[in-house]
Amino acid sequence: MGVTTKKLAILGSTGSIGQQVLDIVSNYSDIFSIVGLAGGRNTGLLATQIEQFHPKVVFSANRLELPNKTKMCSMEAIASDPEVDMVVVATTGKVGLAPTLAAIRAGKEIALANKEVLVMAGAIVMAEAKLHQVRILPIDSEHSAIFQCLNGKIGQVSKLILTASGGPFLHIPLTKLTDVTVDEALRHPTWKMGKKVTIDSATLMNKGMEAIEASWLFSIPLSKIEIVIHPQSIIHSLAEFVDGSVKAQLSIPDMRFAIQYALSYPERLANYRLPRIELPRLGSLTFEEIDFSMFPCLQLALEAGRKGGTYPAVLCAADEIAVELFLDKRIDFPQISQIIDKTLSLHQDKDNPTLQQILEADIWARNAALEILSKVN
Ligand code: MG
Repeated sequence: MGVTTKKLAILGSTGSIGQQVLDIVSNYSDIFSIVGLAGGRNTGLLATQIEQFHPKVVFSANRLELPNKTKMCSMEAIASDPEVDMVVVATTGKVGLAPTLAAIRAGKEIALANKEVLVMAGAIVMAEAKLHQVRILPIDSEHSAIFQCLNGKIGQVSKLILTASGGPFLHIPLTKLTDVTVDEALRHPTWKMGKKVTIDSATLMNKGMEAIEASWLFSIPLSKIEIVIHPQSIIHSLAEFVDGSVKAQLSIPDMRFAIQYALSYPERLANYRLPRIELPRLGSLTFEEIDFSMFPCLQLALEAGRKGGTYPAVLCAADEIAVELFLDKRIDFPQISQIIDKTLSLHQDKDNPTLQQILEADIWARNAALEILSKVN
């Protein structure tokens, strides 16, 4: 059984996930080809990728000289280009939302790494995907794990269990966190990722967003999603079925597993470049109950997810601002959750929001978060 060839557009090709997608693509050049690339601030890297993969259409955040046959386009145009079979959404934050919707409406298969797309607008995105009969394949290790465990059988599931490494500050009391540096927060114990998601993993905001994302992706209520600490990041998540049986998916922490599975689904491609698990060398896998009081961002995310409406969009926007401020050393680590908390508490929710109302809530939250900062400093 062979994997059918696929023509890809990669949004966010210069980011950490985007680069790993291209690593897989270059390994299977007989199967995957690149039609479109959209890059962020790293214009030099985007130029190198264009030289190597010869895309027909490109989006660049900055000015860029293009070869003769390559055309500059918007991300929406790239995502809906008639030649494209699958759109890999590897952007971060809200920028992935509009192009993802454009891709769905054009009937493209989606490989989704940008979790804010579903956190902000899960109801709209999933309804559009259903309407256009488009498959959304997860590129997040937890969601890929659950997707692989379920094998399409969500009706027989009693709960989903997301694993969390706990990040670099798992057992450090909240009162000590005012002193942590940006470098310490960026030192994730098991995963090598982009800066934004690494900070979100230290606060566990990332896990809260993943729970909301899983709830949309697998149409299961948040109350049936559990989070457990698993510091080794070998088991990427689990599904418990109605008979009590539990399935887990394991691998060495390397995003290329989830990326490759989304690209080749429903087939698997032999890849001996990916690291193998040797159980005796792993020794033991451990699990701990999560202490929610240690992770205010996780609590805020789950509460926003339960409330729904425009709260999850406000959560994402306030988090984007707060993490940026922390990376710029303008606030300390505990202030990340404080700014998000205050922003959420000031928000006036819109129930069943339209896309326009979600985007308005996003802009409101960014301004509100900055205003809160100006009052505390
Ligand atoms: Mg993840």
